Amino acid sequence: MTASVPSHGDAGIMAGIKGRCPRCGEGHLFAGFIDLAPRCDACGLDYSFADSGDGPAVFIMLIAGAIVVGTALIIDANYEPPLWLLGAIFFTAYSDCLARSFATA
Ligand SMILES: [Zn+2]
Repeated sequence: MTASVPSHGDAGIMAGIKGRCPRCGEGHLFAGFIDLAPRCDACGLDYSFADSGDGPAVFIMLIAGAIVVGTALIIDANYEPPLWLLGAIFFTAYSDCLARSFATA
């Protein structure tokens, strides 16, 4: 059985952009940075029909990876640090990004 979510047209889109419930527009849609709340805290709508699994975490990892690798290439091209120093700095930075994204997922 699927949950019935009435369409509000532009109001529903604005509720989604604001991170609010698609039914009432009042309750919070997210419980953290990328973690979907189990249900609306205002009207009780069960959000299990919209569970995206690991999609948001993978999306954040791809963005963080692009930023870290891009920054490493820029620093390498401009300052030519030893490879071990570049690896140590960016391995630590990327590990921290992954730990933070999984801590909220
Ligand atoms: Zn609601």
